[in-house]
Amino acid sequence: MSTIRVAIDGPSGAGKSTLARAAAATMGFLYVDTGAIYRTVGLSARDRGVDPGDEPAVAAMLPSLRVELRYDEAGQQRMLLNGRDVSGEIRLPEVSRYASAVSALPVVRAYLMETQRELARKHDVIMDGRDIGTVVLPDAEVKVFLTASPRARAERRCRELEERGTPQPFEEVLRDIEDRDFRDTHREAAPLRQAEDAVLLDTSALDFRQSLEALLVIIRERTGL
Ligand code: C5P
Repeated sequence: MSTIRVAIDGPSGAGKSTLARAAAATMGFLYVDTGAIYRTVGLSARDRGVDPGDEPAVAAMLPSLRVELRYDEAGQQRMLLNGRDVSGEIRLPEVSRYASAVSALPVVRAYLMETQRELARKHDVIMDGRDIGTVVLPDAEVKVFLTASPRARAERRCRELEERGTPQPFEEVLRDIEDRDFRDTHREAAPLRQAEDAVLLDTSALDFRQSLEALLVIIRERTGL
């Protein structure tokens, strides 16, 4: 039996992971956060003192990495790096920068492609990332491009960081988001862009409930579930 694949792409801080996780819980699908996979590779580069922009050095590191996804009893995705749970560490702002740099390398994208496709072959998934609808799952039944203005995203990220006890100044967060947007959309390998057959969902003026409702409507319309 073939699986149902929902691809959600968009810039960082648009609420993709929170919304995708909630939509997956409602639909009974597996939620796959692909950014967490790139973050795990980024963390590895940081820990080993590897320059994340140096493709041969990063390529040399890959064979020694065991990057695994696990789901805990609560259904939360956990990331394991060589057996160590790094789910908390990969959220550090410094790791975001490493993740963004390593994810621009074709060798890293190729290395992680099969991990992502395999999950979608085995389960009904809601998978979020930057190139899920364009590259990883080009035949996905549902494609959504989820976005919000940079300021709206920076405000949300600031609230999140504050709740985690690691507050950062707004201007710094905004600059980080704009830098990452630029890198994600201008890189040669799988740049962030809306797939032609993706539905655009802009959540700048929507709260969480409204965004989730809108997302579920799109998924139900396209899958008939
Ligand atoms: O979504 P998140 O911010 O956790 O992603 C971390 C980094 O990984 C992003 O900066 C993005 O460049 C990269 N990424 C990617 N392709 C994906 C998911 C994330 O290039 N499918």
